[in-house]
Formats: sequence, C-alpha cells, structure tokens
Amino acid sequence: MHPTYPNLFQPLDLGFTRIKNRVLMGSMHTGLEELEDGYAKVAAYFAERAAGGVGLIVTGGYAPNRAGWVSPFSAKLTSSREARRHRVITDAVHERDGKILLQILHAGRYGYHPLAVAPSRIKSPISPFAPWKLTKFGIRKTIMDFASCAKYAKLAGYDGVEVMGSEGYLINEFIAPRTNKRRDGWGGSFENRIRFPLAILQAIRETVGEDFMVVYRLSMLDLVEGGSTRDEVIELAQQVERSGANMINTGIGWHEARVPTIVTSVPRAAFVEITKQVKAHIQIPIITANRINTPEVAESVLASGAADMVSMARPFLADPHFVNKARLNQSEMINTCIGCNQACLDHVFVGRTASCLVNPYACRETEWLLEEAKKPASVAVIGAGPAGLACATTAAARGHQVVLFDREGEIGGQFNMAKKIPGKEEFYETLRYFRHKIDEVGVELRLNEVATSDMLSESGFEHVVIATGVHPRRPHFRGMDHPKVIFYKDLLTKEPELGSKIAIIGAGGIGFDVAEFLLQETVPEDQRKDHFYREWGIDISVKVPGGLITDAPAPASKRKIFLLQRREGKIGARLGKTTGWVHRSSVKKYGTEMLSGVEYRAIDDRGLHIIHRQQERCLEVDHVVVCAGQESNRQLYDELVKKRCASVHLIGGAKKAAELDAKLAIENGTEIGLRL
Ligand code: FAD
Ligand code: NAP
Ligand code: SF4
Repeated sequence: MHPTYPNLFQPLDLGFTRIKNRVLMGSMHTGLEELEDGYAKVAAYFAERAAGGVGLIVTGGYAPNRAGWVSPFSAKLTSSREARRHRVITDAVHERDGKILLQILHAGRYGYHPLAVAPSRIKSPISPFAPWKLTKFGIRKTIMDFASCAKYAKLAGYDGVEVMGSEGYLINEFIAPRTNKRRDGWGGSFENRIRFPLAILQAIRETVGEDFMVVYRLSMLDLVEGGSTRDEVIELAQQVERSGANMINTGIGWHEARVPTIVTSVPRAAFVEITKQVKAHIQIPIITANRINTPEVAESVLASGAADMVSMARPFLADPHFVNKARLNQSEMINTCIGCNQACLDHVFVGRTASCLVNPYACRETEWLLEEAKKPASVAVIGAGPAGLACATTAAARGHQVVLFDREGEIGGQFNMAKKIPGKEEFYETLRYFRHKIDEVGVELRLNEVATSDMLSESGFEHVVIATGVHPRRPHFRGMDHPKVIFYKDLLTKEPELGSKIAIIGAGGIGFDVAEFLLQETVPEDQRKDHFYREWGIDISVKVPGGLITDAPAPASKRKIFLLQRREGKIGARLGKTTGWVHRSSVKKYGTEMLSGVEYRAIDDRGLHIIHRQQERCLEVDHVVVCAGQESNRQLYDELVKKRCASVHLIGGAKKAAELDAKLAIENGTEIGLRL
C-alpha cells in the first residue's frame, strides 16, 4: 500500500484486465492528430505520459463517420487502413507498460461543417451550421458506425474505447429534450431518448467481445435548460451498466453552457458530488473528473468514496510525470496545471496545436529535446519572473552554471500579483514548482540583488540573459498625478484602502483581474464550492433539469466599478477564447458598468472626466486604477550592448511588452535555455 496515496495507487481489477493505479488521463484533442506526421507525434506524446506512470490513457476524440467530424477532415477511424496507422501509438504506450483507449466522438450538431447531423434540426448557439435531422436509417447506420469504429480500435491495438456521451455531442443530444424533439421511437419519452446510447453500447459489445474495455462518458450535469434530471442520470447509468459498459466516466456541462466547468476559478473537484450520487446506484467502477489537479485532491476524492478512479486531462499536459512524482512522494515537484486554458483549449479552438503555458514541451515531444549542453558555461539570468525562471532552470538542467538574480525578495515577478486575484490562486503552484526546480537543477538564486551593467560586465559570465520584465504604462492626460490615481502594481502589492466607487482604465486581462480583485470578498476555503454554485446558479443535486437555476439572484458587491477602454466594440474582446466569456459574465454579475470607445480627459477631485458617445461625462469615483498595459524594462540590456558585452540575450517582457503573457514568457525563456 502506498504510504501517502493508498487509494490512488490501488490497482483496479476489471476481471479480464488490471489498471495499475486509479488515474485516468482524460481525453483531449491536441491538434497533433491531424498533422501530416501526426501518428508519430501522437505516439511520442502518449509515450511520454505512459512512461510517467498514468494507469489508463484516453485519446482525443475520433469520429465514427464523416458526419461525426468535429470540423472538416478532423480525426476519424473508419477503416482498417487507418487502424493500422494507429499501431505506432498503441505500441508506444504498451512498451511503457501503459494502457490506452480510443475515444469515439460523434460531434452531432457541434460539427463545424455542413454535413453535421442531430436528432432534430436545431442549430446550436456555438456553430453556424444547422444540422441535418437523422433519418431512422441514418440512426441505425450511425450505431453500426460506432460499432465498426470500436472494431477498428481493437484492430489497432487499443485496450478499449470510450464512448463520448456527454458535453452536448450527438449522443447527449438524443438524451436531452432540449435537442431531441423527435416523435418516433428515438424521441419523446425518456426510454426512447436513451435508446440511442444503449443501442450503441450493445452493438459495440457484440462486435468487440468481452475482453475489451468499454467506458461510457455520461453527462451527469448538463448545465443547460432542458437537460437531464438526477433521476434520469441515475436511470441512464444503470442501463449503461446493463448494456455492457465496464466503467462510467463523468461529463460535466455542455459546450454551449454558460457556466464555467474547468477554468481556474472553478474550485478544485467542484463536481465530484454528482459522481458520488450516481456511484451509489451502480456496481461498475465510476470515474470522476473536472478541476482535479494535484495528487492530494485526487486521493481525498477517492478516500471520500465519491469515485473509483479520477480523470485528469490538462494536468498531463502540464506534467507528463505527474503520477510517478506522486508515487515517489515528490508531489512538490509536479508542474501543476493552473486551469488557464491559454495554450491548450484556446489553441485548439483556433485550429492551433495545443501545448501548455507552464510546460511548453507539451505536444512538442519530437522537437524540443532537453539535451546536455555541448560546452557547459557560466550564465547569469537577470529577473526571476516566468521568463527568467524558465530560462534559468532549463539552462541549469542542461549542465550550465546558472546564477539567477532578482531585485525582489521572492521569485515570480508579475505572477506574485496574479496569484492574489480571486479565482487565480492556482498561480501559487507554478511558483512552488519553480522554487523546487531551482534546487533540483542547482540554480544559484540571489534575491534582493539588483543586477547592474557594471556588475555584469565585470563578473565574467559567458552568457547574460536579461529577463527584467515590464512596468505599467502611464497614460498621458491631465490629472495623472492626482491622489485618486493608483497603478495596478501598487494596488496589488501594497493593497491600500480604496473607496466604494472605482474606475479602471484599461479592460485587458489585468483590468478584468483588478475588477475581480475589487469586487469579490475573500471566500474561506471550506465555503468556496457553495459560493461558486450560488454565483453561477448551479443546482448540484440536479433536481432542476440540467442542474441550472436560471433565476439565481445576482451576487452582491461592496463596490461600484467602471471598466473602461478606448477601443470601440466588445469590452475584453481580446481575452482568452475559452475564458473571456467567464471573466465578462463574472464582472457583469456584480453590476460592473463596462464602457468602450472612451476618451480620457482628466482626473480631478470630482472624479474621472471622459467623453463617451460624444457626450462629456464625469465618473464620480473615489479612485482610478490604471491598467493600461506595460512597457519593457530593457535599459539594462541596452547598457550591456553599449558596453559590448559578449553574449547577451533578451527574453520575455523585457524583449517585447506588446502581446506579452506568461505563455510567451515561459516559452521564450525555455527556448533560449535550450539554445545556450
Ligand atoms: P516579470 O514577470 O515582469 O518579471 C521580471 C522580473 O525581473 C521581476 O521579478 C523583477 O523584480 C526582476 N527585475 C527587473 N529588473 C531587475 C534588475 N535590474 N535586477 C534584478 N531583477 C530585476 N499572464 C498570463 O499569461 N495569464 C494570466 O492569467 C495572467 N494574469 C496576470 C494577472 C496579473 C494581475 C498580472 C499583473 C499579470 C498577469 N499575467 C498573466 C501576465 C504575466 O504575469 C506576465 O506576462 C509575465 O509575468 C511576464 O514575465 P517576465 O518574466 O517577462 O516578467
Ligand atoms: P492588455 O491586455 O494589452 O490590455 C491593456 C489595456 O490598456 C487595453 O484595454 C488597452 O485598451 C488599454 N491601453 C493601452 N494603452 C493605453 C493608454 N495609453 N491609455 C489608456 N489605456 C490604454 O494588457 P494587460 O491587461 O496589461 O495584460 C498583460 C498581459 O497579461 C496580456 O497579454 C494579457 O493577456 C495577460 N493576462 C491574461 C489574463 C488572462 O486571464 N488570460 C489575465 C491577466 C493578464 P485601449 O487601448 O482600447 O484603451
Ligand atoms: Fe493547464 Fe493552462 Fe497548461 Fe492548459 S495551458 S494544461 S490550462 S496550465
């Protein structure tokens, strides 16, 4: 028995097969699947995770036919020829003592193409294509396509399949009255609506035999109007069990739901209660999911009896060796997923290959190789923000002698402000990871030390890397020296007392974060889940269909906030693709007034004077917080270049403040660390 994680490292015996621990790497589409040499890349990506000790892996979704494509020409498995090409993936995982399932995903009306089909011809709010209504023949054909896909998965060497029955895709569309308006034997009553998934499971089982894992991903909380109730979810789970599934996995929220389910502000393990409710009514193992990102949380979920297995997806982008590190009691060395979506889902949604903000090696397993330096050198890295931390630890891991300087008393740079924002507490984890990484790879850390060009030019370092980051931009209009004015940096580091009416200049990522900081009270850890359910109208007992309370009262705030930008158009339009809507609706719930197309005129004792829609207006506020972007700290670099210092590199915000974020900073730092 494992001394720290006895439940997590308990094998799971399914009779014909045994999973070595209780961790499942959940399905994620990465975009590698569709690349020209995608099979080799997917194989390397999963091989790394299998070597990292995960018990069971689920691939990204593969369509069982063309109509089921997520987008034109996306991944599908419909022939033995395609199946043979998967061998490289399954062999790579099996060679590392791993097990892998292929996920069968029919996108239904979420298919972003004109061939999309659904139980009824109802367009989804997130796709421009109205789906074709499946005929009875079409339904039977689709069921057989699922079964054929499972047959090809077996031929390809997979250990089983996961049938995607949640998230609002085709199967889920049959189950929910919201999207199934049919009057034939496939619609109407609950029994008719669940015929489709049950027929798929039965057809798959008949085709693949008994010794092949079939996992069904069941939508336990739809979070849309017209979704399933708790009793229906339980009834479906029981029928799924009878139809031949070996395990049930948890699905939370349709893609069109306007409730966050995986972003960083969702409390950890926020939805396990639902899995627990279902578990009490079935015999087969059940898997829980969503915002489980540390071995401690995973262990406590299993110990509470809520589930038999935990699914984590993004945590395996952030750290492929998550499981082995936990097994070796090195959980402090795990590079934790912070739930930002910036390099994973945000990439996939715009057709870019996924990676990870905290681990830029993810999905680059065949390209970014951490190799020993040919000639170890002495390296000074100036600035211990995300860019400097990534560069220093990468260079040291390759054998360089690295000294990392920061003028502050702690590492982290701007991350020390980010971690203070309500709902962004996960950013602490990245700093914890880097603190341990620094020790592991032997970086010499010198805090409270301002690096100067004189010191650096005299010290004889063979390489100097300038990662001095950014400082807040100062807009130029009358009244910027008024005592009402405060820059975001001073607000978040000094936390002065502020009044009850505040204007925020700048509605970028930081402007929104500052709004949350000013609006939200600190919620004690043990009340975070209830607070979250109330804030987003979630009925966790799922008595209301879909578990969504549509008339939930708006949360109260002690402050009135104005959030402003000069650009016309939607406020915060450039926030993350998959997270921007959460930030916008969150601050809106608290009654924030958001104004775009603003011209700033002056700040005086009365407040902030602006022109908005050709009208002069004074926002009578107590304070004005400036979040107007950043400028690079590159003076040190310029001085070193002037002194003709040999090898000087400029990275992160110091190099380019425009479009800078932590993803770019860490990627850039790692790249230079690999090149030195
Ligand atoms: P910095 O983080 O600015 O670090 C530079 C470091 O250099 C500092 O520690 C500084 O003390 C040190 N330094 C400067 N000069 C010297 C010197 N002469 N000698 C020694 N040390 C020196 N980004 C995201 O991608 N996602 C987010 O959700 C996100 N949220 C944010 C929320 C807030 C509130 C803030 C303020 C920022 C957020 N960011 C976010 C932005 C992100 O933190 C920055 O893009 C990132 O920190 C930039 O990294 P950097 O290493 O280039 O610079
Ligand atoms: P930003 O997103 O570029 O926003 C800067 C804001 O300042 C904009 O609203 C801009 O809009 C305004 N502005 C620019 N120049 C101005 C001027 N001279 N006077 C007045 N207003 C001005 O930058 P940021 O908010 O500082 O964030 C920095 C980086 O961190 C960004 O890359 C951001 O994505 C990242 N970040 C991300 C998150 C997240 O949740 N994903 C959170 C925080 C930060 P107008 O020019 O229209 O006024
Ligand atoms: Fe997690 Fe962010 Fe990495 Fe995605 S990009 S895996 S959310 S840390």
